[in-house]
Amino acid sequence: MSFEPLTFTLIVKELTQRRLIMNFKRTLLTTLCISSLLACSTSPTGRNQLLFHSAGELNKMGAQSFEQMKQDVPISSDKAVNHFVQCVADQITKNVDSSVHQGEWEVVVFDSEQVNAFALPGGKIGIYTGILEVTENDDQLAAIMGHEVGHVIAQHSNERLSSGQLSQAALIIAGTAVAASDVDNEALWIAGLGLGIQYGILMPYGRTHETEADIIGQELMAKSGFNPQESVKLWQNMAKQSESSPPEFLSTHPSHQTRINGLTNNLKKTMPLYQGASFKPVCDKPIIPTPKKHEVATKS
Ligand SMILES: [Zn+2]
Repeated sequence: MSFEPLTFTLIVKELTQRRLIMNFKRTLLTTLCISSLLACSTSPTGRNQLLFHSAGELNKMGAQSFEQMKQDVPISSDKAVNHFVQCVADQITKNVDSSVHQGEWEVVVFDSEQVNAFALPGGKIGIYTGILEVTENDDQLAAIMGHEVGHVIAQHSNERLSSGQLSQAALIIAGTAVAASDVDNEALWIAGLGLGIQYGILMPYGRTHETEADIIGQELMAKSGFNPQESVKLWQNMAKQSESSPPEFLSTHPSHQTRINGLTNNLKKTMPLYQGASFKPVCDKPIIPTPKKHEVATKS
């Protein structure tokens, strides 16, 4: 798959469309769900979701995008760094239900100064060395990984992709000014997978998805034997770092304080999970070599 040029105008247009039709879409969603014409589902935190695509389709998209990333971004060959990331990933993925992904998860450390990480349907995890510089220990890396895998568990890619398609359908039905054909399917496709940031496109997951991934991620890290209190420290560190230059990872996320409050409130649920975890992994963080400067692959 190749990424076609995507202009900022296109994205702005898409965002405007979304706002215009939001209310209409809600009504339409409810109507369609009630009439059981479409695939309505419930997220792990109990939200109604509209999922048009099969897991197989999403896994294929995830795998293709991951291959593309591996071609575009340098991969770290540092043994100690890879060992550290794999050690955390092994524990986290072990505690993900097999209905989410069967078999091994593929974990790649990208040698880039970007403060970023992601997980994709189909069992793919990408960690940038830039984010390892911000994380102080294995618990904090587990918090990041838990959050990213949380997006996959809650099928946020499928939901975003479906929502984008519903927007187009709603546009046609509502007869609004912008023709659905103006929106490149591939743009929605990329945005659905949440890869917009890596590709310089401002099309992030919404706040609802971020908060949900935080909650799922904290539970996952705690069940995996990582101290969930460290997720709060991580975001405090991120907040400090972003005072000078906001990392890409944060630019699309809820405000630091909102996130820290949410994670702190959730500790009453996750600390017992952590205390009850049968295995407490120890993955020592090595010295992180200075990451490569990697230009974001903006194709526009
Ligand atoms: Zn996120």
